[in-house]
Amino acid sequence: MNANLFVALRANFAEDLDACAIEVADGEAGAGAGQRYSWRDIDRATAMIANLLDSLDLPAGSRVAVQTEKSVEALLLYLAVLRAGYVYLPLNTAYQAAELSYFIDNAEPAVVVCAGRNFGWVSKLAFQAKVPWVFTLDEDRRGTLLDRAVQMSDRHQPAERKADDLAAILYTSGTTGRSKGAMLSHGNLLSNAQVLKHCWGWRADDVLIHALPIFHVHGLFVASHGALLAGAKMLWFNRFDPRAVIARLPDATLFMGVPTLYVRMLEQATLTREACARMRLFISGSAPLLIETFQAWRDRTGHTILERYGMSETVMLTSNPYRAEDGDRLGGTVGFPLPGVGLRVLDDAGEPCPSTGDGEIGHIQVTGPNVFAGYWRMPEKTREEFTADGWFKTGDVGRRDERGYVTIVGRSKDLIISGGYNVYPAEIEGWLNELPGVAESAVVGVPHPDFGEAVIAVVVPRPGAQVEGAAVIAALKDRIANFKVPKRVFVENELPRNAMGKVQKNLLRERHRGLFV
Ligand code: ATP
Ligand code: MG
Repeated sequence: MNANLFVALRANFAEDLDACAIEVADGEAGAGAGQRYSWRDIDRATAMIANLLDSLDLPAGSRVAVQTEKSVEALLLYLAVLRAGYVYLPLNTAYQAAELSYFIDNAEPAVVVCAGRNFGWVSKLAFQAKVPWVFTLDEDRRGTLLDRAVQMSDRHQPAERKADDLAAILYTSGTTGRSKGAMLSHGNLLSNAQVLKHCWGWRADDVLIHALPIFHVHGLFVASHGALLAGAKMLWFNRFDPRAVIARLPDATLFMGVPTLYVRMLEQATLTREACARMRLFISGSAPLLIETFQAWRDRTGHTILERYGMSETVMLTSNPYRAEDGDRLGGTVGFPLPGVGLRVLDDAGEPCPSTGDGEIGHIQVTGPNVFAGYWRMPEKTREEFTADGWFKTGDVGRRDERGYVTIVGRSKDLIISGGYNVYPAEIEGWLNELPGVAESAVVGVPHPDFGEAVIAVVVPRPGAQVEGAAVIAALKDRIANFKVPKRVFVENELPRNAMGKVQKNLLRERHRGLFV
């Protein structure tokens, strides 16, 4: 049997191939707004692009690196790469020349597809790296990729692939260091998509608001595979605009977002219970959803956000329950391991942490059909991140309570050991964020001659608020044990974030490493 993911997705397209599969909900008139793509359009367009790729005589296993603005055609390109059996490599649109150069040198793609306006510098980088093919693709369907593809036949026999053949390389977000290329197979992606289809109750009459970027697990795999595998329609937003998305909620049943999208929608008065009346499910992930956001969303819309947890290396790992009979959706937790996912929490000595009560904090390790094969061209790193018995070390720290709910506390790399005590930054950040005038915060450890590491914090004040480091320290002293209280608190205008919006604590550690030594 052909285990090509594209074949499985296509087998689940809506029965009526002329029904609308994707409706473009935003964009300039003429450049996309209102355009509709039927299931037949998806089949034909992916066939044409796959035929174009086949005509290039690429070596087996060739990578197709793509850095374009989000568009339906960019999604079709992804599906075409699967169909033709090559390896899809999406790149964040925010990456500049130095970053792109790293990815191109590291991945050695045979094809690069970029935005027309970047062709000059991208093609130069590609030339230097001896990439044979560079195409362009723009949001308004312009570019050499489609110009060439329209000449091709709209019929194409999907390439034969085995479940463990490589389908995509996803570079991690680079939150804790240099991005690593996670190698995901057709089987990794399909098994995860099937589990989520069942767990989240996907139906053919669902309508998904797709407003996430498609260079990352969340938008590319979780959202798109979900809709395609259910034969459900997508309402497609090339960029997230809270007002525009809220205006289309009455036409939708499902929404997926990172926490900031929820925060920005809550700022809009148009977000009401009525606007959400037809909605079946709101899903959040990629970063921790603050409990305040979870509660505010419930108060305003009557809906309980379902939070789930995953990563580039594993796609989705845990999810809060969808069905009431399986339990409550608990804010602050990421729910239960998905069917087929093994999840264990180990202490520093490698012993299982008890899950009595709230559960004890330790390192999260996982197994399952969704777990990747390793990091692209990093055999050392791959060996380090798998245990002798084959479990993947997620690098996340968390606990599992006696009911089985998993809570993520932070990252192993961010764990602070001060005077022999473990300090979990997320706990201290929780306290800091509750102080009046504090919008957000980041807690890191820096070298200290007596304590090994000292806790320090950076806080960002709310607009117009006055926050003093000394007062923050005094306030925390009343609330938490002394070894957890930051020795210094810096008040800054913003936290350093990477292109995915995640806080880069390595930069903060670097900046303040000389404080005490
Ligand atoms: P890098 O591995 O390059 O440092 P990264 O880990 O941020 O970057 P991703 O694979 O994009 O790259 O992100 C996965 C991480 O995101 C997880 O390991 C976890 O730390 C975090 N994450 C995802 N979902 C959640 C969630 N619901 N709650 C808390 N953290 C989450
Ligand atoms: Mg990571």
